[in-house]
Amino acid sequence: ITENQCQLHYQPVFDLKTNLVCSAEALVRWQHPELGLMLPDEFIPIAEQSGLMVDLGDSVIKQSVQMVKKLQNGAMQGKAFYVAINVSAKQFEGHSLANKVVSLLQQHQLPTSSIRLEVTETAIMQDMNMALNELSALRENGIKIALDDFGTGYSSLSYLQTLPIDVLKIDRSFVTDLDTQENKAAIIKTVFGLANLLSLDVVAEGVETEAELKTIESIGTMNIQGYYFSAPLPWEKINAFIDSYLNIEIDAS
Ligand code: C2E
Ligand code: CA
Ligand code: CA
Repeated sequence: ITENQCQLHYQPVFDLKTNLVCSAEALVRWQHPELGLMLPDEFIPIAEQSGLMVDLGDSVIKQSVQMVKKLQNGAMQGKAFYVAINVSAKQFEGHSLANKVVSLLQQHQLPTSSIRLEVTETAIMQDMNMALNELSALRENGIKIALDDFGTGYSSLSYLQTLPIDVLKIDRSFVTDLDTQENKAAIIKTVFGLANLLSLDVVAEGVETEAELKTIESIGTMNIQGYYFSAPLPWEKINAFIDSYLNIEIDAS
């Protein structure tokens, strides 16, 4: 962390309403000096167990805010854009996440709409009270919260009425092959309808094929991301990607 070996890659997110890029999800990678590029599933659990998750999370938040600032000064000037940041349960533990995030945004003179935080139900369950306090504080400051991997884990419907969230992020497992598996399409349709009734935004992740994209488009107007559009990219590449895609509409038809 101190040697800046943990760098972010960014995966673009598209809004089917406008067919334009509206966001990027920050996904951390560790450029290990001997082992090469390591993916988060390999080292996030270790960071959590060894007490380093708060430092790592702080670095991720800082890099993400700097990224939006650069985009706001460049390609995305005057356009609505946010970076989606994954947070771990450890970051809720009495470390005043909300204060940190809000003051960082103020320092960079960015509106609170410039970032969204993504959290899983599993993370919230680890210490429900602590998580609810932090999430509520974040939302009171205007920062939107997405429930990640929705449909996996606990996914109790009762949480939907109690959790302070703004966005449902439908897990990739429901998107994969949804064009050929009717039960998956049915689940996404239902989740989309439920989210609408609860005034929650929807993001579908893991869109890999044109057929999956078309099926999603037939279900509803949501935000989408996945390898079909782009894998997560390092800063230089996402910057160029956004620059070139800014005025190009995605269209499967
Ligand atoms: P996630 O938040 O569900 O992130 C989506 C994962 O799916 C990413 O894996 C992304 O590269 C991958 N992905 C995106 N589009 C596609 C697709 O079309 N097909 C397939 N097969 N995969 C796709 P990645 O980068 O390896 O991240 C894995 C997990 O690690 C993330 O899952 C997230 O839970 C966690 N993570 C990543 N960065 C951070 C971070 O900064 N902090 C914390 N706490 N967790 C992080
Ligand atoms: Ca995520
Ligand atoms: Ca996810």
